[in-house]
Amino acid sequence: MYRTHTCGELRIADAGMRVTLAGWVQKVRKMGGMSFIDLRDRYGITQIVIDESASPGLNAAVEKLGREYVIQASGLVRERQSKNSRISTGDIEIMLEKLDVLSPAATPPFTIEDESDGGEELRARYRYLDLRRNPLKRNLMLRHKMAQQVRNYLDSQGFLEIETPYLIKSTPEGARDFVVPSRMNPGEFYALPQSPQQQKQLLMVAGYDRYFQIVRCFRDEDLRADRQPEFTQIDCEMSFVEREDILTTFEGMVKSLFRNVLGKSFEEPFPRMPYSEAMDRYGSDKPDIRFGMLLHEVTSIVKGHGFAVFDDAPYSGAIALPGGAAYTRKQIDELTEWVRRPQIGAKGMVYVKYQEDGTFKSSVDKFYTGEDLAAVASSVGASKGDMILVLSGEPAKTKTALGALRIELGNRLGLRDPMVFAPLWVVDFPLLEWDDETQRFYAMHHPFTSPKPQDLPLFYSDRKEDLARVCADAYDFVLNGTEVGGGSVRIHDSKVQERMFEVLGFSHEDAMARFGFLINAFRYGAPPHGGIAFGFDRFCALFGGQESIRDFIAFPKNNQGRDMMLDAPSRIDDSQLDELNLRTTIER
Ligand code: ASP
Repeated sequence: MYRTHTCGELRIADAGMRVTLAGWVQKVRKMGGMSFIDLRDRYGITQIVIDESASPGLNAAVEKLGREYVIQASGLVRERQSKNSRISTGDIEIMLEKLDVLSPAATPPFTIEDESDGGEELRARYRYLDLRRNPLKRNLMLRHKMAQQVRNYLDSQGFLEIETPYLIKSTPEGARDFVVPSRMNPGEFYALPQSPQQQKQLLMVAGYDRYFQIVRCFRDEDLRADRQPEFTQIDCEMSFVEREDILTTFEGMVKSLFRNVLGKSFEEPFPRMPYSEAMDRYGSDKPDIRFGMLLHEVTSIVKGHGFAVFDDAPYSGAIALPGGAAYTRKQIDELTEWVRRPQIGAKGMVYVKYQEDGTFKSSVDKFYTGEDLAAVASSVGASKGDMILVLSGEPAKTKTALGALRIELGNRLGLRDPMVFAPLWVVDFPLLEWDDETQRFYAMHHPFTSPKPQDLPLFYSDRKEDLARVCADAYDFVLNGTEVGGGSVRIHDSKVQERMFEVLGFSHEDAMARFGFLINAFRYGAPPHGGIAFGFDRFCALFGGQESIRDFIAFPKNNQGRDMMLDAPSRIDDSQLDELNLRTTIER
């Protein structure tokens, strides 16, 4: 037996017991004729003491220990003289009687402490050492707990966990596929699933009316802090349901996660917000509703005063920044620069200070009287001391820019505490999105999303404006300004599905070649169905109060999609290429 207890287990009640522990040497200290070993494992740290005078043999062995040695230590548990309330075993220590080195260790390239001295790249290369640190350990434990809770809840609701294949057919429509060459079928490729969307719908056709899977998905996209080329979804689908049944079921799952993982209870139903309201009031389809500073349209109020920027713009919108009247010229310039960054894309920003004495001061005083500016202030709901910030331009882009500004100011004002949670559903998304560049419609969610039944007449119209107005039976689950889940009621009629492909610009042949299996399946009795998928990594990061998903994944990739530890991707041998009937155009 390697150990009788873990390094996080022993308490004062265990004093007097002979125990054996095994773990990693966090550090060895010498003090007043005694040596102290901090022994660490997944569960915690236990202090081990050796009296130098008492046992010269043991002492010599302890002298040889280095950081991260794996050892087995036996001895007697006793009460500590100077207790350490910061660790769970801080009341006791172990008088060392026997020591075995199970594995010596090279000096680690960075310190295995909560605040490590290692840079990101170094830690990525030695991920197995980084994973020994508490912050990462806590994240992975949280992730485990969430996964277990998801399984418990969905099992209790009659869901079956069913695996779907990773080697599937490439049907690019959305993100780029990762593809895998087939040796047995020369010149042909599998694709890795971006999500098991079609498989879960086929499971519904097959009669498995409640399915879920905690499943890896793959998308070959440019990466950001909250994106990974492979990521995990809680993927779910249900049959014989309407939107309401789906939202109720998964609101239940989210509430059970909050309750059982974070100890937070949400008694009230989650708010629901139509997409149009989210865009108009928050400038985002994933609104952070933890704070105000809502968007207000001021187009008609600011037009007609001779200020060309506002006169020519189809939309002007404003937000009120609390305390903004005290901003200096420099602070305002900095904000103006911020909204002009290419990612935000505003051309400029107009400010109106609502000063404490009730007067107004603005960057457009030449064009607007105090009364005009008071009208702007009142329509934005501003109070004395606020500064009103106005952007104008094309409606969708301008609202999005105002929404981004709102989030930035929310961050700066400390209104976005990561451990305060405000969940909601965003509903009634448009079905289709027009793309000027390719001159075609794209599915806003995906091509299997059902139009709302009352919008079917519009859906069969040939007019672009009509199609743009069709509402989808789709919904997103949003938490603190992050989209955590998304889904929809699906099309289950092969004719409607064919019409969808037609609207998306696929010929009949093309649609059949790519999605024939699904269209055909719908001809053999398809139940009404719908579902949702949650981004599990992101969900975990939010529960952990962190932005980046990377540290909630045991072995993540970096921003270039590289696994720094394995040094992947990498080249393969010519013989491997030959076997796969592949030739690369990159010089080797
Ligand atoms: N498969 C969809 C996605 O990955 C989610 C869903 O509609 O269930 O976004």
